[in-house]
Amino acid sequence: MTDTRVLDIVSLYPKEMNIYGDTGNVKTIELRARLMGYKPRIHQYNVGDTWPEHVDMILGGGGQDKGQAIISDDFFTRAQQIRTLAEEGVPMLVICGLYQLFGEYFETREGKRLPGIHVLGVHTVGQDTRMIGNLVEHSEQCGPIVGYENHSGQTVLHDDGTQPWATVDDEGTGNNGTDHTEGARKFNVIGTYMHGSVLPKNPQLADFLIKKAAEHRYGTFAPQMSDEQKAQLDTLDALAGAAFDVAAH
Ligand code: GLN
Repeated sequence: MTDTRVLDIVSLYPKEMNIYGDTGNVKTIELRARLMGYKPRIHQYNVGDTWPEHVDMILGGGGQDKGQAIISDDFFTRAQQIRTLAEEGVPMLVICGLYQLFGEYFETREGKRLPGIHVLGVHTVGQDTRMIGNLVEHSEQCGPIVGYENHSGQTVLHDDGTQPWATVDDEGTGNNGTDHTEGARKFNVIGTYMHGSVLPKNPQLADFLIKKAAEHRYGTFAPQMSDEQKAQLDTLDALAGAAFDVAAH
């Protein structure tokens, strides 16, 4: 019998690209999808690994410039597969270092250019001054979002098909500290500087990704929850609300 509730989720380069708690995003998706009655299967994909047969969501974290250089060659061997999945509407959330590599290129402060896979129409250039601190923003898709940024790269959007993911509130610098944009979106691919981890603090974003993953796999999003599962989700939402209040004030 075919299993109709499985969601295949790729955790992209967790060995090299996983700082400031970005693994929490994978754990949040796994837990919330399970509480909604789905069967999430997490595929850790590192350099040299076999690519999974099915992919319904991709989650990738941040990393230092060194980590970005280590994954670069392997990443290119997966570029076409990832582009095709993006065009199919597979939801992807990529943070900081991987956000930069989902763009056209990332040029380090030393002038070394790492090409990206150009799913998102952005490019990034490293600066001497790092952008560090709490980040509060508003996105059209998910409303207010809180998190934390720490990057040297300044990112600029450069193509009409790629929209800013969010607008930065007073606190935080976002893509480049000048145009008040933060992150980028094309199809259901979201690139952002939001560490945090961002998903435990902003469950509306996690649920958006789960919905899109289910629609990709099964054509519809149909949560099946017992009262107890619903109560657990409500508790997680209440905790996120408390974290949000602390971060946003
Ligand atoms: N190396 C990148 C930068 O500093 C990414 C940092 C990160 O992922 N936090 O801009």
